Amino acid sequence: IYPENGKTHQELLKNADAAMYKAKENGRNTYSFYTKTMTQKAHERVMQETKLRESMKNNDFTVYYQPLMNINTHEVIGYEALLRCIDADDSVMYPDNFISIIEQTGLIIDIGKKILEKVFLQAVSWKRMNIEYEKISINISAKQLKDPEFFPFIEALFQRTKCDPDWIEFEIIESFIIDDIVEAINVLEKIHTLGINISLDDFGTGYSSLSYLKKLPISKLKIDKSFIDDIPFDENDKIITKTIINLANDMNIAVLAEGVETIEQEKFLIENGCSLAQGYLYDEPLSVDDINKKWNAI
Ligand code: C2E
Ligand code: CA
Ligand code: CA
Repeated sequence: IYPENGKTHQELLKNADAAMYKAKENGRNTYSFYTKTMTQKAHERVMQETKLRESMKNNDFTVYYQPLMNINTHEVIGYEALLRCIDADDSVMYPDNFISIIEQTGLIIDIGKKILEKVFLQAVSWKRMNIEYEKISINISAKQLKDPEFFPFIEALFQRTKCDPDWIEFEIIESFIIDDIVEAINVLEKIHTLGINISLDDFGTGYSSLSYLKKLPISKLKIDKSFIDDIPFDENDKIITKTIINLANDMNIAVLAEGVETIEQEKFLIENGCSLAQGYLYDEPLSVDDINKKWNAI
């Protein structure tokens, strides 16, 4: 709107563009008026993006591993690979602050490839060191799954690293399946054919049609942390958690609870038939060095 949003045609167009971005972000087919915060946000994003590109050049992205536990036996059954960005002065950036930017900018494709390579090599190295685990799980974003080079890359990487697909599990968020079920079936089948297990991440947050669970090659459901947080106090969360556990057990799908922090939560899970969990009660995500040290100390 002239003149509030710009005094020259260039400025008006630029700001209209920012408003259009916002409208697209809100799911398209809508409209949006320009506000000053849009320019600030756009500016911040450019700064963040520049910083992330720099981090990539400097090899600041690294992978931490959080133990996945059998809570009946208290044995480690596997590890979830979690991305960290650690710069030269040791300051750590967590994925919640940058995953959405690297997804939107497409940087996730290159960073994702590096993570996969790191994890495959780590899987091999731990096998050689006799560090025991069943599988290492890797979070895979929708952008990666839609990349035409993804599957050829994975196949070549298995060959090059000598990693066995049986040592790897992909975590895919439930919403990927809902967004485009036809594509999801296709992609999940391809992963399955490669011999990689599939775990449905953040389960319960995405309202997926449960009938698809039967049709898809899914071997594990991960109950989202948001349902575990208020156990044993929130009755609804207890009901939802119990329901997911029963559903998984009835369908012969493994079920793991995320974000377990207290003994009470663990007790609730054991009593209701969930034998797998991860969370600060057991361990935070650890560096490779820390895991090696722990293992040597046993
Ligand atoms: P997520 O897949 O749901 O991963 C679990 C998150 O919960 C991790 O956060 C983990 O550190 C945290 N967590 C585990 N146990 C506890 C607990 O007991 N208490 C609390 N408060 N938190 C716990 P993190 O590492 O910050 O990762 C956040 C999200 O970023 C992940 O959520 C995942 O969606 C995404 N992410 C992380 N690494 C990757 C990656 O390599 N690729 C992709 N595409 N996404 C990733
Ligand atoms: Ca995950
Ligand atoms: Ca989660």
